[in-house]
Amino acid sequence: AANLTYLGLYALQHRGQEGSGICSSDGRRLYIEKSLGLVAEVFNEKVLNKLPGHIAIGHNRYSTTGSSTIENVQPLMATYSLGSIAIAHNGNLIDIDTLRDKLEKEGAIFQSTSDSEIFLHLIARAKSGEPRERIANAVKQISGAFSLLLMTERELIAVRDPYGIRPLALGKVKDAYVVASETCAFDLIGASYIRDINPGEMLIIDENGINSIKLFNSVKPAYCVFEFIYFARPDSYIFDHVCVNTVRKELGRQLAREHKVDADIVIAVPDSGVPAAMGYAEESGIPFEFGLIRNHYVGRTFIEPKQSIRHFGVKIKLNPVADALKGKRVIVIDDSIVRGTTSKKIVKMIREIGGTKEVHMRVSSPPTIGPCFYGIDTPSRQELIASSHTIEEIRKYITADSIAYLSVEGLKKILPNSDSYCMACFTCQYPIEFQSKKKHQLELFK
Ligand code: AMP
Repeated sequence: AANLTYLGLYALQHRGQEGSGICSSDGRRLYIEKSLGLVAEVFNEKVLNKLPGHIAIGHNRYSTTGSSTIENVQPLMATYSLGSIAIAHNGNLIDIDTLRDKLEKEGAIFQSTSDSEIFLHLIARAKSGEPRERIANAVKQISGAFSLLLMTERELIAVRDPYGIRPLALGKVKDAYVVASETCAFDLIGASYIRDINPGEMLIIDENGINSIKLFNSVKPAYCVFEFIYFARPDSYIFDHVCVNTVRKELGRQLAREHKVDADIVIAVPDSGVPAAMGYAEESGIPFEFGLIRNHYVGRTFIEPKQSIRHFGVKIKLNPVADALKGKRVIVIDDSIVRGTTSKKIVKMIREIGGTKEVHMRVSSPPTIGPCFYGIDTPSRQELIASSHTIEEIRKYITADSIAYLSVEGLKKILPNSDSYCMACFTCQYPIEFQSKKKHQLELFK
């Protein structure tokens, strides 16, 4: 099981690069191996050999809460009165400070600063019940985004929050079940995609097979739209069998219909801007070109050189193809603008080649105006350029000849069941109410 999990983590590396871990069970006890770093850095044959058994869960960490320390790398494991339990959590919880304070006052000792650990404490401190009942009770006390995989010595349990904010899919490989955030993990291990874990569902997989329990009353789903825009891999199918690449390409087509401009070539900010740029090119009839090349091997440990080199930060990742751009009117497609720094640097870099006639920025999502509290790492509202600047001000800032974003209506036109999405990053309408500390992140000015 650990070997298949390892491959799954490899396919899901884009979802988190800070740390990686696997927990396995041979039916008697749990084994865990985790470390800071990429999947390929954390695991090798020797490490995988320490993870025997027929059940395993794994996790790649991308931190939105809690620091980048080994304690926060998941799965998190605990031993309690019924044995051991481990958890892997995708998403961000809301308003857990009070609950955490209460647990700490009652004597709970937290190993990590990650919000995910709260599940383990609630499960361990339950007065009675089988693990599955304790898990059900624990998740009912928590609000926010959670796609969870838990395991005990004998069972694997998947849970998805009632809004289904983060994806979670069920697959099958031979006679074994597999669960993953995205179906690209299934492709690598030859598993077939059966269906998604439903919002509010708990799925128990053990020697008796598979058992589904509806934990929450139905609410309107709030699937994260940013998974389609940026986060998920284009070859994945998420949120009820929808292909990410197809959506991105259609967003590009819609963008072309909304904001056409006379130009010679369409280029993408790779990688996430590529499908939208291809869609834009097809719809507008303007040829797609490779205008920017991404270096895929830039590691986290990369050190900025002491000598000052112009645009170094962006150049190490992206470099323009001068020959393709010279003498051209260029449309640059990116999937999103957050702070505006990437677009500004790219426009400047393209102009500095010399000879490009015009640079038009087109964005295949609406202006990002709201921070995410549900698991996407976006800064506070003050840092989101579109929350405090007009489109014309953004154009000036990034020094483009023109700029245009996809409309919210256009986005909704492309998404299947468009009222089933959380679009708070584009609308500031948050599907789960929250109090407390997070509110200040919505303020525009201190
Ligand atoms: P910025 O430079 O802050 O405007 O960031 C925009 C760029 O970052 C775009 O090229 C996006 O594809 C990419 N991006 C958008 N959201 C995220 C995110 N949550 N994490 C990392 N990169 C992102």
